[in-house]
Amino acid sequence: MDNEKKINKETNFSEEKKPTTLPEGYKPNWIYVLFIFLILFSIFSRTVSKPKEITWLTFEQTMLSAHDVAKIVVVNKAFAEIYIKKDRLSSVNYKDLPQGGYMAESNPHYTLQIGSVESFESKLQQAQQTFLPEERVEVAYQNRTDWIVVLSYILPFGLLVLFWMFMLRGIGRSPMGSGSIFNFGKSTAKLMDKDTKSTITFKDVAGLREAKREVEEIVDFLKNPKTYTKLGAKIPKGVMLVGPTGTGKTLMAKAVAGEAQVPFFSLSGSEFVEMFVGVGASRVRDLFKQAKEKAPSIIFIDEIDAVGRSRSKANAFQSNDERENTLNQLLTELDGFGTNTGVIVLAATNRADILDKALLRPGRFDRHIYLELPTKEERLEIFEVHLRPIKKAKDVDVKLLASLSPGFSGADIANICNEAALIAARKKKEAVEQEDFMEARDRIVGGLERKGKIISPKEKEIVAYHEAGHAVASWFLKNVDALVKVSIIPRGKSLGSAWYLPEEHQIVTKAKFIDLLCATLGGRAAEEIMFNEVSSGALDDLEKVTKQAYTMVAYYGLNDKIGPMSFYDSTGENERFLGKPYSENMAMIIDKEVQALIISSYNRTIELLLKHQNKLESLGQLLLKKEVVYLEDLEKILGKRIKEIPAHVRD
Ligand code: ADP
Ligand code: ZN
Repeated sequence: MDNEKKINKETNFSEEKKPTTLPEGYKPNWIYVLFIFLILFSIFSRTVSKPKEITWLTFEQTMLSAHDVAKIVVVNKAFAEIYIKKDRLSSVNYKDLPQGGYMAESNPHYTLQIGSVESFESKLQQAQQTFLPEERVEVAYQNRTDWIVVLSYILPFGLLVLFWMFMLRGIGRSPMGSGSIFNFGKSTAKLMDKDTKSTITFKDVAGLREAKREVEEIVDFLKNPKTYTKLGAKIPKGVMLVGPTGTGKTLMAKAVAGEAQVPFFSLSGSEFVEMFVGVGASRVRDLFKQAKEKAPSIIFIDEIDAVGRSRSKANAFQSNDERENTLNQLLTELDGFGTNTGVIVLAATNRADILDKALLRPGRFDRHIYLELPTKEERLEIFEVHLRPIKKAKDVDVKLLASLSPGFSGADIANICNEAALIAARKKKEAVEQEDFMEARDRIVGGLERKGKIISPKEKEIVAYHEAGHAVASWFLKNVDALVKVSIIPRGKSLGSAWYLPEEHQIVTKAKFIDLLCATLGGRAAEEIMFNEVSSGALDDLEKVTKQAYTMVAYYGLNDKIGPMSFYDSTGENERFLGKPYSENMAMIIDKEVQALIISSYNRTIELLLKHQNKLESLGQLLLKKEVVYLEDLEKILGKRIKEIPAHVRD
């Protein structure tokens, strides 16, 4: 039983990609260009245009003494620039200077560091008196800003700023790619306007009849608000859609917008809460402002539990002020706008129980609409909706598909249909056939088949008997769901799997719980019987068994010693306490009882398998040969099952 159900949610609606906030106007490219230019300039100016530096001695002995110096400019009291007389430049002393060009004309030819202006002046005066008593060299003083020095101060700082902007851009953009540094306090809500019409209507929402009926009222209000306000009626401002993931909450909200033909702002709760303090609150403010401007309109907040989690629940080490600020702002906004402004806030969550009670108070999200996993009939309808665009072969039996997918959500079904079409396309088929749908279903339940995965013959044998153990155990336990097939083809991360068809029921009896424990332990028990040795391969099974046993004992009150007590806490308040809601003594009893339950289940499974050891062996052998064993062969080896097998499984 390694088939854990995996769901890949596919909820990309291309029409909402358009951001409503600031245009993408802010292009920082010129900044990069400027900086690169400045860097190049500084390098260039250092290497090329900088005159050669000389010492006082050279200056005095070769230049001044030869009457070659035209003028001296003392710059910033730090160094002197020396200009050589034009007609003397041809002298051998200056052959290392670049000839011609601007260098020779107006720029200084040499520079000279001076200690201080005073000492330079006195030295110069002395030298002049010695070498050219009758001539005076012109000395000028200048104060200049040295751009290179300034740059060397600015550059690291500028790079820092640049880096910072990169960071901000990255963060501002992270949720959906529309952000930049300037709008990161703005709402990143996506808008589906009338112009970019939401094409989704109630036709696209299958099943969910009751939820649809409740939601229709909202559509009607958005379309004809007058008929309601005239009579003094108040329309709910906030509607909470509650249900497991993939049951169509987002779809429903979009359908409301599509039916009413009003702008639709959607934002996920997790997007409110980002790294920067205060961003969440300002996003909320901005979102409501935008929506009010466009009223009548719909705001849809997905995953509201990300912000709306009960405030008291923040545990002592991890209080999240940012989230609380955001939540407070949300509450303020909800209270702030009048009942009949024409803005309706829809929110979705799969955990209504952990939401802050303040959110659910009258005048806020006081309407709750529950979406459940679809029943068989509803699954049929959902299949039909998603089969519409698919070219299907004649052999496709939609009814059978619906009955073979218990526990699947609308999103899973949409996924199956798409996956089946992909599989058929890969096989270059003209139309999608029933087998493609079945393969798609298996893939969604168990992950991708990985036929190429290399396992040694010994490992394969272990896997075969392990799976045979699950199969045999569950076959002779009357409360376990119908076994459909057993396979040792690696799939996802599991090496083998037994496939069951779960029945649809809401409550589980104690006997069924125990049978399930035994079936799950069947793999490990078979390994022990066949090889007298156990392996690490039963990790998933053991994890499942342990968790299940704990819920039985501590939550469902199914243990005699503890009695009909439950330590389950639907309010989630207890998470706040670091300890458990029971004493150390009770904790010990629970641990002991859980262990006893698992060990007795394991012993029961061993007994059961020993009783049917020859069947276990032949099924293991057949699995090694065929890799997949279907119901027909299972019945041949194991005999008719005590538990009746639903008719549709036989197909
Ligand atoms: P949720 O918001 O509850 O997690 P979504 O609304 O995002 O679920 O559903 C995901 C997808 O599943 C939808 O885009 C749709 O294709 C499909 N789906 C879910 N429920 C239904 C339904 N009742 N009818 C038709 N399609 C559905
Ligand atoms: Zn197993």
